[in-house]
Amino acid sequence: SDRNADLRALVRTIPDHPKPGILFRDITTLLLDPVGFAATIDRMAEAVAGPFDLIAGIEARGFVFAAALAPRLGAGVLLIRKRNKLPGTVIGVNYALEYGEDRVEMHADACAPGARVLLVDDLIATGGTAIAGAELIRRAGGVVTQAAFAIDLPDLGGADRLRAAGVEPVTLMAFE
Ligand code: IMP
Repeated sequence: SDRNADLRALVRTIPDHPKPGILFRDITTLLLDPVGFAATIDRMAEAVAGPFDLIAGIEARGFVFAAALAPRLGAGVLLIRKRNKLPGTVIGVNYALEYGEDRVEMHADACAPGARVLLVDDLIATGGTAIAGAELIRRAGGVVTQAAFAIDLPDLGGADRLRAAGVEPVTLMAFE
């Protein structure tokens, strides 16, 4: 949106990554900019409707946003990781990729029953990752009603799919 044109200008586009024809939206340039990153966190914090007990970040770029948001929102950080990274007893959710399958995991005891959890990642594309993350938190007993992303790729339909799964997406920038 126009309101976040300053932030959008800090996102770099890398053509043909990770494969030909893909325009990869790279937020590392936004993170490098102290004013831009601070504004991103401010605007994400203002756009969500708390209170939250936990901010769940999805590995790895989601961790950066979740860690910055959590103290602002008076919440802890819950790490949602790729398979076999967490040391304790985990629960996991598998989800389909274009080719093959991926898996997200969290510690089984990371979230108290009824905990209000905000899900966070850098970007939503097809929504597969975020929907799996929300399902994971729900299986652990958490309550997820919103998810925040710096970037939405609306052509891929993920925000609509997430909403249909009962999670309201909050996004700052759309890239067609
Ligand atoms: P989805 O599961 O299709 O919604 O893909 C979203 C996940 O893939 C997120 O964890 C993103 O970090 C990552 N991702 C997909 N496309 C991009 C991109 O263009 N830039 C940065 N991350 C991306």
